[in-house]
Amino acid sequence: MMNKVSPQQAAASPPNALGATNAGPECRPGCGACCIAPSISSPIPGMPGGKPAGIRCVQLTASYQCAIFGQPERPACCSGLAPGADMCGSDREYAIAWLTTLEAATRPHPRS
Ligand code: SF4
Ligand code: SF4
Repeated sequence: MMNKVSPQQAAASPPNALGATNAGPECRPGCGACCIAPSISSPIPGMPGGKPAGIRCVQLTASYQCAIFGQPERPACCSGLAPGADMCGSDREYAIAWLTTLEAATRPHPRS
């Protein structure tokens, strides 16, 4: 079976959401969870301040592919994210929930 890369990764095949590596599990077509749920602090074309959590990346196409895949403007975190069973789960809803929980758990606490 052919490996599929995540939106952040896809090279020969169309990128999905974030863009992970092509090792391990395949990226699910039409998911895009990892390009929506997490925050991204790096500048993205069209989002110079990065991407807030829960907001769809402006570079995520209607078909859930990364419009800037392979371009130097694509954040390194996108290139480095690989699909994984823990993150991707069995469906998009699982991935959104998992990534949202992770985002909340890793959010910096404001100083009091
Ligand atoms: S730039 Fe946006 S659409 Fe492309 S992989 Fe990163 S988060 Fe996804
Ligand atoms: S959460 Fe997983 S299946 Fe969904 S777009 Fe990202 S890498 Fe692909």
